[in-house]
Amino acid sequence: MLDNAAMTKLIFDLFDLERKKLETGELLNRFGEELRFIFAVEKVETKVLDKPNSVTPVEEFTANTMKPVIDNRLSAYSSFKELVDYFNMGYKSCIIFPVVSNGKVISIIKLLSKQEEKFDKDVSNALTISTIILGYQIAGRTEQEKSVNVAKYFDAAFNSIVPQFLIDANGAIIKANKSMLILFSASSREVIGKNVKDFFQIDANMLASLKRGIIAETRIVDKGDRRFKISSSQVNEKILHITFYETTEMRDLEEKTKILSYSNYEAMLMMDAKGTPIWVSDNIDKVLKLQKNALLGRPFVEMLLEKERIKSGIAAMGDGIYADSARINVGNGVFQDIRLTFFANQMYGLSCIIANSPYESAYRNIEKNFDELVKLSADAIIFIDPLGYIQRVNKSAENIFGYREDELIGGPAAILYTDEEQDKLPRALSLAKQEGTISNIFAKMKGKKDEAFIPCDQSVRSVKDQNGNLAGYIIVNRELKTKYDLDEAQEILEDKEREIEKLQAESELKSQFIFNISHDIKTPITNIKGFGTILYNEEHGPMNEEQKGYIKIVIDESDRLMDLIKQILDVARLSSGKVKLELQPVDLKKLGDNPSIKAQEEVATGKGLMFSWNVDYNVGEVNIDPNRIIQVFVNLITNAVKFTEHGSIMVNITKKGKNIRVEVKDTGIGISKEDQRKLFRKFYQVHRTELTVQQGSGTGLGLSIVKEIVNLHGGRMGINSELGKGSTFWFTIPISGKKKKQKEPKEASSDSKSQ
Ligand code: ADP
Repeated sequence: MLDNAAMTKLIFDLFDLERKKLETGELLNRFGEELRFIFAVEKVETKVLDKPNSVTPVEEFTANTMKPVIDNRLSAYSSFKELVDYFNMGYKSCIIFPVVSNGKVISIIKLLSKQEEKFDKDVSNALTISTIILGYQIAGRTEQEKSVNVAKYFDAAFNSIVPQFLIDANGAIIKANKSMLILFSASSREVIGKNVKDFFQIDANMLASLKRGIIAETRIVDKGDRRFKISSSQVNEKILHITFYETTEMRDLEEKTKILSYSNYEAMLMMDAKGTPIWVSDNIDKVLKLQKNALLGRPFVEMLLEKERIKSGIAAMGDGIYADSARINVGNGVFQDIRLTFFANQMYGLSCIIANSPYESAYRNIEKNFDELVKLSADAIIFIDPLGYIQRVNKSAENIFGYREDELIGGPAAILYTDEEQDKLPRALSLAKQEGTISNIFAKMKGKKDEAFIPCDQSVRSVKDQNGNLAGYIIVNRELKTKYDLDEAQEILEDKEREIEKLQAESELKSQFIFNISHDIKTPITNIKGFGTILYNEEHGPMNEEQKGYIKIVIDESDRLMDLIKQILDVARLSSGKVKLELQPVDLKKLGDNPSIKAQEEVATGKGLMFSWNVDYNVGEVNIDPNRIIQVFVNLITNAVKFTEHGSIMVNITKKGKNIRVEVKDTGIGISKEDQRKLFRKFYQVHRTELTVQQGSGTGLGLSIVKEIVNLHGGRMGINSELGKGSTFWFTIPISGKKKKQKEPKEASSDSKSQ
């Protein structure tokens, strides 16, 4: 479907092209490009029909019938060979149509599409209208161009369908072309030597002005009311070449624009220089409640209610386009809403496409009956009288503003506006009164429940009665749901943020509590262990074996308790984000020699396990906090050793893009999938096996500490494991040391390097 806008653009571009004064071939090509764009087809071919023998059968057919050929389902059986060729090239539909100028087909334009059923009646109509305009433009232009160099063009001109004379300075006819002779049904002999005045209403003054190149208008003598425009060019001192454009040729146009008669909502009008319609398309009575004769012969714009505005619009449009909506008097003071597109017509003055606007009329009907459509609309629609009192509201208005219909009707519309927007309504009304409609007003409206405002995109339209007097206004409020939702989302977000802040504060309090408690516990444990050791060493007298055994348990348990406290402290600090990493470049190859790690290696080899520390050749220095990373290694290796009885422990360090990847691989008992998922939770321990009982149970905090440290470094951590076969704990760390954003520590902790 070709919409109005596309059609208007096409016509507009056509006039734009005309202004560029292109050569006919070039003009056609550009026009072809326009068509390709507007109709979105793959290919447009244009052909100027100047060499008769190069015409293909389908072109000839189009040229002879002057009608478009449409094939919307090209196939191997299409009627012309050329169409079969197009099918073979992959096209599915085509339209081939003539450009007619002065009754002659001067060119053929082909549109080819890879889509089936591309060219419907609308496309064909639009193309026909635009090529008619194009044809007239070309006719006008070529005659002008030709008259610049008369001698050269003479013969061609004399074959033209446009009637032409060669006359001398007094107006005596030297030569007349065939068209002229046909026009007068006279032979050459009957015309030559006579004065042009015998055939046309031309006087001496007009002749003089023609000599100066001024275009004049004339009528034919004794042949009814046939009008002509004449233009002249001087061949030499004595001879004047005169061309006649028959403006009554409009009938021809009318013939060709018969296609318009299919349209129920668009009609066309051509006006003379004074704005009086001289041609009206046949379907006018379908579009307007007016007969053709009611339009012909009286100034068109005068019939419009907004005539002053339309007049100044036309005056300002130059040779472009002017579109507006207006109301036309269709008699008895009844006005009909129409949409008008005016464009300059070089030969005749002004053309206009008239479209009836169902929307405009629908709005107008609202005035009479607030119909179902409005009632059902999702927009809040309010009808107020000229003084601003509510007359009608629809269901949506009740829903959006939360009032019942009877609470609103009769009351001032101002109650629906927030206090700060009170001046918006009177301003909108006074504008709507002048302009008809104003839209896109952002209004903060107010509902019955006096809470947050209701954001609306508003349009206000003034409504007039049959006599053109103000009857009231229609206010259409579209609730800006998205904005509203956004506000709501914003509120939820703020709530959540407050919640997070609260939780953070709580968590900080908890950390602080753990921190304090742990500190308080450390001292007595140190004392217990200290005094236990004194007793155990028998510094204050001997003990029997049983007593020593008990004291040993006290010492061991206080060690375990101390470890636990230290780990709890570490976890609390790490997860509160108070730990600040001390990053520095570290060579991981050398890290394997660190005493803490070496100690673990010894435990492993002591247990009969193989131990290897492998660093890829391309792993250079990495920016890490060495103490913390050693803590990670010690933790992972300790676990590996703890849960492996046979085989090996391998530490592999490789470079993976911008990260290093560390794997601690063992051939131990492995971890089930179920447990792998929960492994990094605080205090989580895999269901204890005999083995772990023997090894002494840990705290279940080690891996969560490890993970916190890796995260702090901006890295990731994971595990691959199979029960019975072994586990690989891996983590990555950015080489550049880009660590995770962390809070500034609020206190410099003295224990930051504990463990
Ligand atoms: P713990 O201090 O108890 O070792 P971790 O957080 O370091 O705490 O480990 C949690 C649990 O994960 C351990 O109790 C153990 O069951 C399991 N685990 C850790 N490393 C390994 C491993 N290399 N092989 C098998 N199980 C492991």
